[in-house]
Amino acid sequence: MVLRLDPTDIRSFEPSGTKPQKLHFCILGGGFGGLYTALALHERLKRYPTPCRITLVEPHSRFTFTPLLYELLTQELGPQEVAPTYSQLLAQTSISVQKDWVESISLPHRRVYLRHGEPLTYDYLVVALGSRQRTFATPGVKSHALPFSNLEDARKLEQRLTVLEQSPLPLIRLAVVGGGPSGVELACKLADRLGHRGQVHLLDRRAALLRTYPVLVQRAALKALRSRQITLHLDAAVDAVEAHQIRYHQRGQQQILAADLVLWAVGTSPHHWPSVHGVPATDRGQCLVSPTLQLPDHPEVFVLGDMAAMPWAKRGYAPLTAQAAVQAAPIVAHNLWAAIANRPLKPFTYHHLGTMLTLGQNSAVVCGFGLTLTGWLGSLVRRWAYWFRMPTWRHRWRVLSRALRGSALRGSKGFR
Ligand SMILES: Cc1cc2nc3c(=O)[nH]c(=O)nc-3n(C[C@H](O)[C@H](O)[C@H](O)COP(=O)(O)OP(=O)(O)OC[C@H]3O[C@@H](n4cnc5c(N)ncnc54)[C@H](O)[C@@H]3O)c2cc1C
Repeated sequence: MVLRLDPTDIRSFEPSGTKPQKLHFCILGGGFGGLYTALALHERLKRYPTPCRITLVEPHSRFTFTPLLYELLTQELGPQEVAPTYSQLLAQTSISVQKDWVESISLPHRRVYLRHGEPLTYDYLVVALGSRQRTFATPGVKSHALPFSNLEDARKLEQRLTVLEQSPLPLIRLAVVGGGPSGVELACKLADRLGHRGQVHLLDRRAALLRTYPVLVQRAALKALRSRQITLHLDAAVDAVEAHQIRYHQRGQQQILAADLVLWAVGTSPHHWPSVHGVPATDRGQCLVSPTLQLPDHPEVFVLGDMAAMPWAKRGYAPLTAQAAVQAAPIVAHNLWAAIANRPLKPFTYHHLGTMLTLGQNSAVVCGFGLTLTGWLGSLVRRWAYWFRMPTWRHRWRVLSRALRGSALRGSKGFR
C-alpha cells in the first residue's frame, strides 16, 4: 500500500517558526539517494536562485559507487574512480558536508540529532540512509566472515586476500555465501583474481541462483560460474561460520566445508527510521511514502532510496537498487524546489531499465530493451552505462581520462 497525500498539502506548509535567514535543506545520507538529490537540488536552485543552504550529513569521506566495487578486486578500477571523496564531488557547489552519524530525528521539532555534533534544525529534510547487511543471526558470521558492501569492506577483503596470496598455501579456498547478484559477482571476480590458485565455492539456501532475475541472466551467470570451476552448493543453509570452515545442512544432511576465507553476501535490509517514534513502514521495514516521496503527516520530509517504499506500477514497490534511488533523486529535488516555489509536485514511479551484472574480469551480462549482451561486449556496455550514472561531469572526465591513460596507470589501480 502507498499512502496517498494531496500534493497541494505542501503549499500550506510554512517553514519553521524560528525565521531562519535562509531555508535549510538537510539531507541525511550521501549515497545514491542523498548525494544525487543534493546535486540535483543545487543545480535547480542555481537556475531559480533562492536564499537557502544545503547540508549533507554523511559519516564517510567517500561516496561509494557500489555496482563497481567488485572492480577493485581485479584492479580494473581504482578507489579514486569507484569511491571519489565528497570534497572532490562537491568542490564546485555550495553544499556543505557534515561528517557525522545521524542518531535520531525529531519530526515535531524538525531536528536531527547527531552522534558527535550539535543537533541540526531543518526546514526541509531528505532521508536516504540506505540499507544494512543482513546476518540472520547466524553464529560466527560477525567474527569469521567478511561482508562486502562498502569501500571499507573492500579494503579488508583486499588485505585478507593479499595475506593469503603471500602465504605458502598451494590452494586458496574461498566460500561466498549468498546466491544473489552480489554473491555471483563476487565469486566470479575472486575466481578470476586467484586463477589456478583459487578454489571458490558459492552457497545458497535456495534451489536456484538469482531467482528474481531474467532467465537469460541466470543462464549467463551459470555459464560464467561453470567456466571458472566455481563449485555451487544449492539448498545449502549455513548453520555456523567457524575459523576455517562453514557448517551447513543440505537436504537433511549436515555438511562441513573447509574455507580459508568466508564472504557473507546474503543481501541487505533497509535502514530503520532513526527515531524513537518510528514512521509507518512496510513489513520489510521501508518507510511508507506518498507518490511524491513525502512522509504522509510531514510533507516537509522526503524519503528515498532503499529506506523508502517507492512506487512501482508493475510490482508495488521499487527494488532496493541504485537504479531506483538515482531515478528518485531528481524527483525529490524537483519537489523540494516546487514546495518552496509553490509549484505542483511530481509523483514518482520507478521504470525498470534493465539488469547488469559483472561476471568476472572484463566480462558482464547486460539485459534490457529486448537485448542481452554477454562477455566483453556486455562488460563494455555496463561500464559505459555506469560511467553516465556517475555523480558529476568532473568525476566522469576524471574516470575517462584515467581509462584513456590506461596501462600507464595500471600499477596504481585497485588497492595493490
Ligand atoms: C556491493 C554492492 C553492489 C551493488 N550493485 C548494484 C548494482 O549493480 N545495481 C544497482 O542498481 N544497485 C546495486 N547495489 C544496491 C545499491 O547500492 C543500493 O540500492 C543504493 O546504494 C541505495 O541507495 P541509498 O541512497 O538508499 O543508500 P546508499 O547509497 O547506501 O547510501 C546511504 C548513505 O547513508 C549513509 N549512512 C548510513 N547510516 C547513516 C547514519 N546513521 N547517519 C548518516 N549517514 C548514514 C551511508 O554511509 C551511505 O553513504 C549494490 C549494493 C552493494 C552493497
